[in-house]
Amino acid sequence: MSQPQASIPTQPRAKQLRACLLCSIVQTPADFRKHGCPNCEEIMQMKGYPDRISVCTTTYFEGMIAMIDPEHSWVARWQRTAKYVRGMYAVRVRGRVPDDVEAELESRGIKYRPRDQTDMD
Ligand SMILES: [Zn+2]
Repeated sequence: MSQPQASIPTQPRAKQLRACLLCSIVQTPADFRKHGCPNCEEIMQMKGYPDRISVCTTTYFEGMIAMIDPEHSWVARWQRTAKYVRGMYAVRVRGRVPDDVEAELESRGIKYRPRDQTDMD
């Protein structure tokens, strides 16, 4: 199964980067290991757990947006990331969070929205 796809210019360093499946922030694996996710660590609990990082983040993401003013950026609103910290965010992230994370979100009354843009408003 090979789908035709526009080639996406990647920076040499981009290969090492990972995007959080929940908030789509882009960091290096080392950052995730040291600090966890700055937005959703409370739910994801990745800090210090490389195994956890490998299921809660992915290298399969496209595009990056620098979010320097999350509160006011229209891009942020469009990306539904207005409450998130400043940083680099992926435009599109493939994959879903693990079941336990989805269950945790549900128990907090948060509706999980996959970041692959398959759920259009
Ligand atoms: Zn996150």
